Amino acid sequence: MLPMAPGAGRSTCSLPNMGAPEPAPAESPDENEKRMTSKTETYDLFVIGGGINGAAIACDAAGRGLKVALAEMSDFAEGTSSRSSKLIHGGLRYLETYDFKLVRDALIEREILMRKAPHLVWPLRLVLPHVASQRPRWLIRLGLFIYDHLAQRKVLKRSESIDFRKHPSGAALKPQYRHGFAYSDCRGDDSRLVIANLLGAQRHGARILARHRFLSAERVDERWRVALRRVKSGTVAEIAAKALVNAAGPWVIDVARNIEGMKVSRRLRMVRGSHIVVPRQWQGEHGYFLQTRDGRLMEAFPYESDFTLIGTTDEPWDEAPEKVAISDEEIDYLLAEANEFLRKPVR
Ligand SMILES: Cc1cc2nc3c(=O)[nH]c(=O)nc-3n(C[C@H](O)[C@H](O)[C@H](O)COP(=O)(O)OP(=O)(O)OC[C@H]3O[C@@H](n4cnc5c(N)ncnc54)[C@H](O)[C@@H]3O)c2cc1C
Repeated sequence: MLPMAPGAGRSTCSLPNMGAPEPAPAESPDENEKRMTSKTETYDLFVIGGGINGAAIACDAAGRGLKVALAEMSDFAEGTSSRSSKLIHGGLRYLETYDFKLVRDALIEREILMRKAPHLVWPLRLVLPHVASQRPRWLIRLGLFIYDHLAQRKVLKRSESIDFRKHPSGAALKPQYRHGFAYSDCRGDDSRLVIANLLGAQRHGARILARHRFLSAERVDERWRVALRRVKSGTVAEIAAKALVNAAGPWVIDVARNIEGMKVSRRLRMVRGSHIVVPRQWQGEHGYFLQTRDGRLMEAFPYESDFTLIGTTDEPWDEAPEKVAISDEEIDYLLAEANEFLRKPVR
């Protein structure tokens, strides 16, 4: 739980539209860092990690009136938050594992994000071809009915059954696919969403540092004394804070090990999820939600103006997060599964 500032209720942190003119920064990055690490400042909250979780927590907490600081060891959104599938979704696939609450919460957040950041979150119509040997039609229809009704849908269209012989989305598919379904989700710009949250936090007075690696935190006089390494110069800066948030994504255990008093008994189960980006494969803004031959679900949808993004895989990963890279087998798998459906093969 985040500590609440006296009298603070809902967070007022809004996400700035980066198209709009920004007020000139009051301080240079060096001045910002000097103020942040000044011996007299104590922060209510110190956030480790500038991915979407760290950035959104900083924005929310600063919007509640807390004095917030955040440090990112690399560039903002350098970790998982710029390498996602770019979907702002409830997660239709999680209905199969009966995670109804998770899906409902995510659908509610989807509506909030559409309102808060319409410049970064867009509706996406996803088309799911029916594969006779896989999930039965009634099951998909039931899943989509639940997905449509789990949360209030104000803007997005409800799901529908479609006949590919008449529907324009059938043109890109092999002729053996005759029936399918279309439903609504959203896609977004994941890394810009991180930046928007950081700017929102900064507007509410948060201090934000890139290229400052968290080294350790120890308890001194009922405060956390946090040591950070300035990546550029190699020197060490110190910050005092009343509370810490470890938002280090796949590095969360490494960070936790360096927080005094933290007992880290758990291992993190990491997975590698890879995408491929290929030249644009079909006309239209819709995407496809494809059932793979091994029973998984993967997406393919327009990316930027000229590309199609296809993914993901789901492989266990035990090495350091920064070493992760797609393998040749994953590329072959993604191409083969997409080509099961697409009339014009992707190469
Ligand atoms: C393949 C894949 C596809 C996905 N697709 C989607 C999707 O379509 N939609 C969706 O909603 N979610 C998706 N997700 C999930 C989503 O991307 C993650 O939940 C989210 O990005 C995690 O954000 P984070 O801030 O926790 O971690 P990260 O983005 O990894 O951020 C952690 C940050 O902490 C920093 N850090 C680490 N150690 C230190 C340190 N010592 N000092 C300072 N900073 C440090 C790192 O540099 C990093 O920037 C996907 C995930 C994967 C793997």
